Amino acid sequence: MENQLPKVAFIGLGNMGAPMAHNLLKAGFSVSVFDLVQTAMDNLEQAGATQAKSAENVVQEADVVISMLPAGKHVESLYVGEKGLIKHLKAGALVIDSSTIDAATSKMVASQLAQKNIHFIDAPVSGGVGGATAGTLTFIVGGDQQDYVRALPILQAMGKNIFHAGDHGAGQVAKICNNMLLSVLMLGTSEALQMAIDNGLDPKVMSDIMLQSSGRNWTLELYNPCPDVMPNAPSSHDYQGGFMVDLMKKDLGLAMDTGLKSQSATPMGALAQSLYSIHSQQGNGQLDFSSIFNLFSKQEKSK
Ligand code: NAD
Repeated sequence: MENQLPKVAFIGLGNMGAPMAHNLLKAGFSVSVFDLVQTAMDNLEQAGATQAKSAENVVQEADVVISMLPAGKHVESLYVGEKGLIKHLKAGALVIDSSTIDAATSKMVASQLAQKNIHFIDAPVSGGVGGATAGTLTFIVGGDQQDYVRALPILQAMGKNIFHAGDHGAGQVAKICNNMLLSVLMLGTSEALQMAIDNGLDPKVMSDIMLQSSGRNWTLELYNPCPDVMPNAPSSHDYQGGFMVDLMKKDLGLAMDTGLKSQSATPMGALAQSLYSIHSQQGNGQLDFSSIFNLFSKQEKSK
């Protein structure tokens, strides 16, 4: 029987893209894949995907194209650069870009593709590699309502919560507003916990107190930055896994650019950006972002 599901092309099979493509295969989609790294494609082929020779090749038959790339420059050159896929995509195809990039690039790519009757939504994610693997990502979509509705069954195969934030670019803005707040919460929680420790309190007891008081927040609930408070948190595993410091630094850079363009006051975000930059420069870029706790706990304290 003819498969009624749309044919999906997936470009960018890194830490996030590979498990996302795996979940599409598990849900029964026919998936063709392309990445610059051959082994990334080989792994997906073993799980049932079709491997393409080039980006042009992978999109030729595709009804829906998903990209999961490092930054805005990669997305721009993939779709609308000199050798852009705009020349190869089927008219009427839907492009879902799940990379975290600047909203301006998302809007520009959307408007150029629209001139060729190619639909585009930005759909960045929250949930990290764990969420990508478990198929529980949060997708935050920017774009037209009908494209959002069209994308839903595909996004639901990879995620649990799917939001329509607004027009093109709104997904990217919403994502970095959230991550800017997350960085501030992580820093605030870290400094409060360390001050409690410095004054002789047990961080587990202090965390329990704050969890039942007005300082309660997501980091205390699920992602305590102090080692050995939460057995499953990255802090209890030498800050391995989770969401890397350098990715938080990247998102804070995007947040600061966005704030500048909209003339928004973001003093807390700016401070978080500085502190995450220092932490990265000190060699912690590959650790989980909750390792910012060490910026407080390892400081030489003068009496
Ligand atoms: P990654 O570096 O692991 O993967 C990116 C992949 O894209 C690589 O395999 C690379 O070879 C491929 N690639 C780059 N240019 C390409 C091109 N022109 N054609 C084909 N393939 C190309 O990155 P990641 O951790 O998977 O992150 C991807 C995106 O998701 C980023 O925008 C990141 O900010 C965002 N994100 C990451 C996380 C996370 O925890 N890793 C969480 C949320 C969002």
